[in-house]
Amino acid sequence: MDKFSQQRVQMIESQIKGRGVQSRAVLDALAEVPRHCFVPEELQRYAYNDHPVDIGYGQTVSQPYVVAYMTESLSLRSGHRVLEIGTGSGYQTAILSRLAAQVFTVEIVEPLSIKARATLSRLGYNNIAFRTGDGREGWPEESPFDAIIVTAAPARIPVALCAQLKEGGRMVLPVGETDQELVLVMKEGGRMIRQSLFPVRFVPLVPGRDLNGE
Ligand code: SAH
Repeated sequence: MDKFSQQRVQMIESQIKGRGVQSRAVLDALAEVPRHCFVPEELQRYAYNDHPVDIGYGQTVSQPYVVAYMTESLSLRSGHRVLEIGTGSGYQTAILSRLAAQVFTVEIVEPLSIKARATLSRLGYNNIAFRTGDGREGWPEESPFDAIIVTAAPARIPVALCAQLKEGGRMVLPVGETDQELVLVMKEGGRMIRQSLFPVRFVPLVPGRDLNGE
């Protein structure tokens, strides 16, 4: 129990269950992870509201519903190895770490990566490997992955990420420039099957040399 437990329960009822996310495991993970610990202290009281929250460096932690929906669409199982591109605050990473065996997470803004590492280790999430760098390259040495989640939008689906997805694996990501949509990609028989989910607005997935933080 913490002072935000009640807000967390309400968030799950109204924003998550109320909009159709049903996976018991995903709902349990959302109930367990203290979202307020992943946002700056002065914004903690907004952590459970129905919108993204600023985390510095022009970045945000996604809206709770978007985190829940993207996570559910990966159909994670306890033995899975997951790649996350865009560690940000580490909130989505924490949710993934409750549902999979191991999480590999890549962030391009070094101070965000360092801060997320500290938050996650303080909270005791220890099945996570971190890397600072350009996530469009994925993490070839640890591939293939059962699932991949990208939390910033590329203009097109990065080929390296498709190559690092296991046969039968699932990848969810926002795609597009001004008009973005959430896309689910499934690898079946060596082919990528693409399914559009709904329109979204994410920060862009940037090339390394364009973004050096603040
Ligand atoms: N999953 C995060 C959301 C963070 S927003 C959370 O739960 O807080 C998206 C993140 O993607 C930002 O932190 C941004 O710095 C990062 N990002 C943008 N381009 C990237 C790239 N090419 N490689 C890795 N991370 C990138």
